[in-house]
Amino acid sequence: SKYVYSFGPGASDGSAALKNLLGGKGANLAEMASIGLPVPPGFTITTEVCTEFYDNDRQYPQALRGEVAAALAKVEAEVGRKFGDPAKPLLVSVRSGARVSMPGMMDTVLNLGLNDATVEGLATESGDARFAWDSYRRFIQMYGSVVLGVAHHRFEEIIETTKMDAGTIEDTQLTAEDWKLVVAAYQDVVAHETGKPFPQDPHDQMWGAIGAVFGSWMNQRAITYRRLHEIPASWGTAVNVQAMVFGNMGDDCATGVCFTRDPSTGLNEFYGEYLPNAQGEDVVAGIRTPRPLSKSYAKPGEISMEEALPEAYAELARVRDVLERHYHDMQDIEFTIQRNKLYMLQTRNGKRTANASVRIAVEMAESGLIDQREAVMRVNPQSLDQLLHPTLDPKATRTLLARGLPASPGAASGLVVFSADEAEMRAQKGEAVILVRIETSPEDIHGMHAARGILTTRGGMTSHAAVVARGMGRPCVAGAGGIHVDYGAKTLTAGGVTVRAGETITLDGATGEIFAGFVPMIEPALSGDFAKLMDWADQNRRLGVRANAETPLDAETARKFGAEGIGLSRTEHMFFDPERIGAVRQMIMANDEAGRRTALAKLLPYQRQDFIELFRIMAGLPVTIRLLDPPLHEFLPHAEEELEEVAEALGVGIEAMRQRAGELAEANPMLGHRGCRLGISFPEIYEMQARAIFEAALDVARETGAAPVPEIMIPLVGMKRELDITRAQIDEVAKSVFATAGRTLDYSVGTMIELPRAALTADTIAQSADFFSFGTNDLTQTVFGLSRDDAGKFLPKYVESGILPKDPFVSIDVEGVGAMVRIAAEKGRATKPGLKLGICGEHGGDPASITFCEEIGLDYVSCSPYRVPVARLAAAQAAI
Ligand code: PEP
Ligand code: MG
Repeated sequence: SKYVYSFGPGASDGSAALKNLLGGKGANLAEMASIGLPVPPGFTITTEVCTEFYDNDRQYPQALRGEVAAALAKVEAEVGRKFGDPAKPLLVSVRSGARVSMPGMMDTVLNLGLNDATVEGLATESGDARFAWDSYRRFIQMYGSVVLGVAHHRFEEIIETTKMDAGTIEDTQLTAEDWKLVVAAYQDVVAHETGKPFPQDPHDQMWGAIGAVFGSWMNQRAITYRRLHEIPASWGTAVNVQAMVFGNMGDDCATGVCFTRDPSTGLNEFYGEYLPNAQGEDVVAGIRTPRPLSKSYAKPGEISMEEALPEAYAELARVRDVLERHYHDMQDIEFTIQRNKLYMLQTRNGKRTANASVRIAVEMAESGLIDQREAVMRVNPQSLDQLLHPTLDPKATRTLLARGLPASPGAASGLVVFSADEAEMRAQKGEAVILVRIETSPEDIHGMHAARGILTTRGGMTSHAAVVARGMGRPCVAGAGGIHVDYGAKTLTAGGVTVRAGETITLDGATGEIFAGFVPMIEPALSGDFAKLMDWADQNRRLGVRANAETPLDAETARKFGAEGIGLSRTEHMFFDPERIGAVRQMIMANDEAGRRTALAKLLPYQRQDFIELFRIMAGLPVTIRLLDPPLHEFLPHAEEELEEVAEALGVGIEAMRQRAGELAEANPMLGHRGCRLGISFPEIYEMQARAIFEAALDVARETGAAPVPEIMIPLVGMKRELDITRAQIDEVAKSVFATAGRTLDYSVGTMIELPRAALTADTIAQSADFFSFGTNDLTQTVFGLSRDDAGKFLPKYVESGILPKDPFVSIDVEGVGAMVRIAAEKGRATKPGLKLGICGEHGGDPASITFCEEIGLDYVSCSPYRVPVARLAAAQAAI
């Protein structure tokens, strides 16, 4: 096969379609060159070489050297320069480029080809000795640390000393002579650290860099990043070798990163940052704070590129249009301007906030660039979480500590931590933390992931922290220069106020503000674009979407987010209210049925009121009410003092209390006296609940004229007989309530399918059920034989080491649990072709699981209210 693909003006071997082979960067460079955009020529070594390299004990394929030599010769011919030519040297960059972007995870080397001879050529040619020697020292620094493994600080120290000797604090004030001294000192450091002189042969340099890029695919941070983003190691990275252009040759030079639309808001305005007289990595590394690209984003006193370099800006604006029309999506572009001429170094679909993603998809559909179905496909359902996140309550009082850049939206409060490891440690204990760093690097991603919010004191909107936080949906404030961080003392100081590690701060990632202490938050307001997109999603989905809700607030939120009913109302959640728990405990402590009925009679009016409210809010939409499920033991107090208090309140002795608690204790409560087993042991409990449901439904029917649609659901059924017995009780209650009221009502009785036996005998169970709802939480627990309450102790290890691809309590295990669901659905429908099938485990809000539900033809999914929009969109995507 072919290992090396050339690209250049009008003559690329590859194209955007070859992303898997050439990596994102290489494929798009080839594509841009083909459509006539100004791309410096170069070549891409394919990802297959990377894979073969690792498969063959880090050996390159035989044919590689020859193909690289040929491709290099082509570049030399194109630019009219030769590698290692002291008069007119060709310099190249060597960069990684995987199939999906992995920001900052792998290594890059610039200015490759410089040595003691070619640096003189560059000086003469550019007429700028300072530039040439600065470029050479940058090269030694990058190559030294990336390829030769010399510690970065060894180089930094030399610059610091040189600056001190020169009596300056700015790099820009160092002269050519100063840089020459730096280069000599760098070479000494390299020789000393590696035992060999700095390589002078450009070919050796290039192969060293190529090896380092392939090697970086397996470095620890790349491995971590791949794990977090579910990127297989087998994809490999490509290597791009490209003729250098210089953004640091003077004031008519610049380098920058931009987005064809605003990645924060989605606004259709050209958005970006640039640095005059600088080299590309300076922007990304966040070392110098960049300036705005467009005038419309410039603050007073800031000079945009639109003003500073109007011709190059105009050309870039033209390219912006060409790229959007070509790719039909918002692009993230890297460019360099050398002596007023624009060069494109990268384009890719831009990462964006959830808000921007929705706005861009809707606006592109409305302008005809894409169609509505494509717009629906464009938005990642999980990312909607960000839109639905709370923001700071504008009425709440707050103390502003400092301001930074609004790098990633959303608000978060948490305890201050100063290291990624500490963030991870405290988050594992369930604490909300804010990770505070001077700047973040790829080594920090595990901590960024664990934190609720991220604060940095250095870097711009395209710095590592900003890009990664946006991708993760974490609120982030970047570049808050007014804050001084002292890692040693574990403090941050802003405007005379000191905050210690472990104290609380609040970030507003939408405004860039940082506040002392905790600030109350409010629910988000959704945009018109969001409503449009949801509307298009609804037009394209087959699956219904309901919510799991039991409180009026949950039910209202669910409706607001578009739920088409309640798929699971867990009635036990209604029993913990302080006003009711006493009656529940009285019922548990009663010695006989009469005693239990007395206590249940106290609960009836509360329970009836609960259902009245749910029925009112759901206004004629189906409401699935699940009868009591957990073991009774859960309702008794656990602490000894509390036990005494409760015993006293109930007027029973502490001994009786202890004895009852002892009787109810179970070795395996999740497999114990719960679900319909309770209803069979204590029929009066389900009777009370059924009565409350029917009376409430009749009340609301009378009041509103619209009859509610109660669906009564029996939990933990494993055998048809269990359902028959409980169903008969419910029908009895219905008869009695309807007789008293003198009117009737439609209702249905169904069951959860959450035990393997229920799934395997679903054909029989279906004879007695009006509907099935898959309780995939318990089903996952019982199919795996894996306690859902304890699995957290070892399951993450299973996922990390690849024994399981994902946490099966989050995303359905299609192979095992999914097979069980599929069997039950088929068997159920074999008995009753129209049997209504839903899912109400946590998986009902997980996009991958929703895709599975669509595949097997369930009727609806039910999930927590906040996930309803996620489910609507995921259901549409599954159907398209
Ligand atoms: C389930 O088991 O999936 C379910 C929805 O019920 P619960 O989580 O209440 O056990
Ligand atoms: Mg369950």
